[in-house]
Amino acid sequence: MVSAQVIWAKALPVLQERMTPTSYKTWIKDIMPISVEGNTLILMAQSEMYLTTLRQFYSNIVTECVNEANSSNYTISFIVKEDKEDTPTSVPTPAQSTSDAGVFFGVQSKYTFDTFVTGESNRFAHAAAVAVADNPASAYNPLYIYGGSGLGKTHMLHAIGNYVHNMHPEFNICFVSSEDFTNDVIAAIKYDKREELRKKYRNLDLLLVDDIQFIGGKEATEMEFFNTFNALHGSNKQIVITSDQSPNDLPFLQERLRTRFSWGITADIKPPDVETRVAILKGKAERDDVNITNDALLYMAEQYNSNVRELESCYNRIVLYANFSKRSMIDRSFAESVLKDYVSSEGKHMVTPDLIKQVTANYFGITVEDLVSSRRDKRIAVPRHVAMYLCRTLTNISYPDIGKAFGGKHYSTVMYSCDQIAGEIGQKLDITTAIDDITNRLTNDLSLK
Ligand code: ADP
Ligand code: MG
Repeated sequence: MVSAQVIWAKALPVLQERMTPTSYKTWIKDIMPISVEGNTLILMAQSEMYLTTLRQFYSNIVTECVNEANSSNYTISFIVKEDKEDTPTSVPTPAQSTSDAGVFFGVQSKYTFDTFVTGESNRFAHAAAVAVADNPASAYNPLYIYGGSGLGKTHMLHAIGNYVHNMHPEFNICFVSSEDFTNDVIAAIKYDKREELRKKYRNLDLLLVDDIQFIGGKEATEMEFFNTFNALHGSNKQIVITSDQSPNDLPFLQERLRTRFSWGITADIKPPDVETRVAILKGKAERDDVNITNDALLYMAEQYNSNVRELESCYNRIVLYANFSKRSMIDRSFAESVLKDYVSSEGKHMVTPDLIKQVTANYFGITVEDLVSSRRDKRIAVPRHVAMYLCRTLTNISYPDIGKAFGGKHYSTVMYSCDQIAGEIGQKLDITTAIDDITNRLTNDLSLK
């Protein structure tokens, strides 16, 4: 008889193909195949929380993919460790969670209110966000936050998610980018899984939707979002939306959605003043344990006045180059020299996107062709995100140009990838190690020591 392990190993690539990378990573990757009993394949989830969600939302797609991959007709049964006495000891212990824990997906733990610096530019939006986090579905619903790129909208959205999750572990909470929402809608239509899509988004207590402007003009997605919005709002569940523009200025958006967005409260975020920018950098330097003078921080803050993402990227570049050259203290003149292409001015090679792609591919044991392909499986997608992040941090090229260097990806995809990695540094061991090792290899390659 075929073992559960073999059956499951065949099903994984099919599942990976069908699901968004986030869903696959969150729900499927850590499932353990246990045994086959008669016609039933027994799969083990990490904890009760996963069990509930898998049974509720993913059992159809798992059943389908298992049977498709194995040309079989198995029924799937999900269990957790406690359900079965003879589970292997190598199995990881289920995470601490109670059976009434809610689903909590997409929220990055790094972005909290604690690390969000307030100033005149964002005071109102921050206050509204905290009010909503404190009183979901009773303060303002929806909360609509808008502002230019890199001003902290996504950070605030995650912060609300983390805060509500801490206060109400039983809440079902989902953070989704419009891009992932769109992909979910497309997949649901393609594979006739609309019911699952609805279950996923309509049983939430808090829905956090990032960059709503990207769903504008996509008819099926707008319609699905409209219906999701109505279902959640109608049953008194909180919705928070971010966008780069106010509802009135959003092109394409259907009038009925525009009207709904104005039911709650709209808050804008403006570019931060110089004190706030310095405070943001100071907070980062403290958390990163980086030795840096106030004068150097002020110099950086003066270079970038309209985008915190750019400002952080400049800070990251200076810190990385300080590591390259084994400096223990960053002062203003060092910061200046890095921003003025210190490396080339000393007659040494610059780090180029091509070199970053090569070294990253090499580090992960894949090819540069894989890296620039459109494959979305984790083995390729994670190295791609890392390489994009390094291009953004170590070179001066723009998001659209990085997109071009990676096989013609849209700039928003590049931005998400970079943000994703930025959020994972210091949180996920494999990502943190990869960034460290690859930058070290780049150092050696370029003999920048
Ligand atoms: P947006 O979504 O508006 O494009 P993000 O939320 O992704 O911007 O912010 C970009 C980066 O800047 C993130 O790393 C975020 O943590 C940081 N950032 C932005 N505003 C602040 C702030 N007020 N305090 C601390 N960090 C901030
Ligand atoms: Mg954002």
